[in-house]
Amino acid sequence: MRAALATGVGAPLSLVERDIPEPGPGEVLVKITACGLCFTDLNLLRGHYPFARFPIVPGHEITGTVAALGGGVTGLSVGDAVGAQFLYGSCGHCDYCVSGDQILCRAKRITGITDDGGYAEYGLFKGGYVTPLPAGLDPVAAAPLMCAGLTAFNGLRRAGATAGSRVAVIGAGGIGALAVRYAVAMGARVAVIGRSAKGEAYAKELGAETYVASRETDPAAALRAWADGADVIVNAAPSNEAASAALTGLAPDGTMVLCGYDTTPLILRAQPMVLNRLRVMASPSGSPHDLRDTLAFSARHRILPEVTPIGLDRAPAALDAMGGGSGGGRRVIAFA
Ligand SMILES: [Zn+2]
Ligand SMILES: [Zn+2]
Repeated sequence: MRAALATGVGAPLSLVERDIPEPGPGEVLVKITACGLCFTDLNLLRGHYPFARFPIVPGHEITGTVAALGGGVTGLSVGDAVGAQFLYGSCGHCDYCVSGDQILCRAKRITGITDDGGYAEYGLFKGGYVTPLPAGLDPVAAAPLMCAGLTAFNGLRRAGATAGSRVAVIGAGGIGALAVRYAVAMGARVAVIGRSAKGEAYAKELGAETYVASRETDPAAALRAWADGADVIVNAAPSNEAASAALTGLAPDGTMVLCGYDTTPLILRAQPMVLNRLRVMASPSGSPHDLRDTLAFSARHRILPEVTPIGLDRAPAALDAMGGGSGGGRRVIAFA
């Protein structure tokens, strides 16, 4: 089978031929249909994950079909359409794992970072961490739901977004655009905060009620003027400064959730937080049950990202282009 391999920090991806792996006990062999390119994949090559194992097949936004089952795997059959996500596996017996919060397990393993991921024609995954795809979900467009979609959906609900909530989303990129559509479908009122006025038409197309260009307008004041503040702010931009600038745009008792962040310290003004009982939290992607809910909600409300399918051989150049900040929609490797 063909695969793309990350061989070390700073090295470009190399395209290789490998044997198709055989599933051991508890494992599922997936014939991969599509794998999204995520900024995590780029950050892997930039050395942001000291626990990464090289060489490794990157990619954790995976859809495919079950090709073979190892011993002891239940609930799946050969030919089933499935997805595999960021969480590759966990210990299975700590308090987090037994309560369904496997994403918080201290022994968690990460697809495409500690274990081979989806930049390959086949992949091996753990039985309990492979999620059936709802019927009718296009497997190429659905690939980014396994990470960007899960992160957006789970962040919104962990922060308490519900019908009637006033939700502000900072950044309408991969995670942010989905967060806007999920929040609208949940029945929330939605504001989008972008940097320049250029993003307004797109944000409104996604269903946003209002748009704030933070280069021109103080985003916190704009949220207070919009709806007396937001109940939930989702930071989907990879910028702590953007989160800080919007903080006092929260209504009293409001919650900001960080899905995007950078490597700088996060600076928060404490007095308005205390006086208004504000919360700031962060949220990683999610556990297997969160992905089930994300996929069911996406299928029901027909929420799929705009994707650009590419061949595996174009993955190295496409990752480079992402590093250079070029847009062009979410790129997804599609296998024939
Ligand atoms: Zn555990
Ligand atoms: Zn990702």
